[in-house]
Amino acid sequence: MHSLIQKAARSHRLSLEELTFLLSAAELTEDLAAAADEARKRYVGDGVHLRGLIEFSNICRQNCCYCGLRRDNQHLQRYRLEPTEIVKLAENAKALGFATIVVQGGEDVFFTAEILAEVVTAIKKLDVAVTLSVGERSRQDYQLWREAGADRYLLRIETTDASLYEKLDPGMSHANRRRCLQDLKELGYEVGTGSLVGLPGQGLESLAQDILFFQEIDADMLGIGPFIPNPDTPLGHEPPGDFPLTRRMVSLIRLLIPDANIPATTAMGTILPGGREIALASGANVVMPNVTVGEARLNYALYPGKICANDSPAKCRSCMEGRLRSMGRFVATGQGFRQRNTTERGLS
Ligand code: SAH
Ligand code: SF4
Repeated sequence: MHSLIQKAARSHRLSLEELTFLLSAAELTEDLAAAADEARKRYVGDGVHLRGLIEFSNICRQNCCYCGLRRDNQHLQRYRLEPTEIVKLAENAKALGFATIVVQGGEDVFFTAEILAEVVTAIKKLDVAVTLSVGERSRQDYQLWREAGADRYLLRIETTDASLYEKLDPGMSHANRRRCLQDLKELGYEVGTGSLVGLPGQGLESLAQDILFFQEIDADMLGIGPFIPNPDTPLGHEPPGDFPLTRRMVSLIRLLIPDANIPATTAMGTILPGGREIALASGANVVMPNVTVGEARLNYALYPGKICANDSPAKCRSCMEGRLRSMGRFVATGQGFRQRNTTERGLS
């Protein structure tokens, strides 16, 4: 095995140059995945945490150039679930056995801090972990939701290249996105972040920087997905992100932050059939099946071709259990908080 992969597996540290080299090395994809799979087994085990994802609104005040929910997209039928509908979906997900509910949406201003706090309070009564993913808000909002019982928050940095970010996310500031992540950490959330792989103008060194950033902020969860061009956006004609490169990102993150929770993202499964399973064998240990139903399930169109859009939550759940079994993995019990392993990481 390449000495740099051995070094990563042993010390969980690599320099910017070393990371950039490994990201460039297509021929090392399998070896990296094997090392990451071993680290995954040692640090977080064979159990895979399933998180039930509720996509409650596709209305968004932002205008991210890659995303189908951007406010300027006229080709999308917009929807917003009622708070009671969101809670009902959470109850169904709980009945299906999900121990974490993820509440995600566009930046929809209808959902004031108070309304979302009530949703969190109601879902927490089901004795599940609650993850929010509703974009950039004030520290006060994050605090209110934390007090209401929210456990985790997902906010991808998308890219650590501030000028690329501000070009592709017009009107948004990279400093504010970092501020949000810092506030969330300070408020005691488990914080998930991550990046898009293959954005136009993004280089390998920038992806290497992303990994160092994840390590620096001690992210608890890392969601990595390939950029998938959406024809209803300004980036519709750009080439998609490279699957093997996305896979090397996942593997390197497992090696550098070995006790993190890392989802096999829907985007990985969309860009390549069986892509989530490949991710699960390359360092990932979480899957987030969609538990939304009806029109909403079809219209949360971040990118085209999203897998499982026509399935029911029950079908997705049992399908995933079967897929995991055939890989020698199983659905983990419990709410799946990050289990810090300081001794293995040599930090004790
Ligand atoms: N509005 C919230 C959450 C919803 S968007 C937020 O932006 O944080 C969730 C994620 O979808 C984004 O973080 C982005 O990384 C991803 N996404 C958006 N458009 C995409 C595309 N075209 N291809 C792949 N992933 C995309
Ligand atoms: Fe809105 Fe999130 Fe899409 Fe940006 S990525 S347009 S914030 S839903």
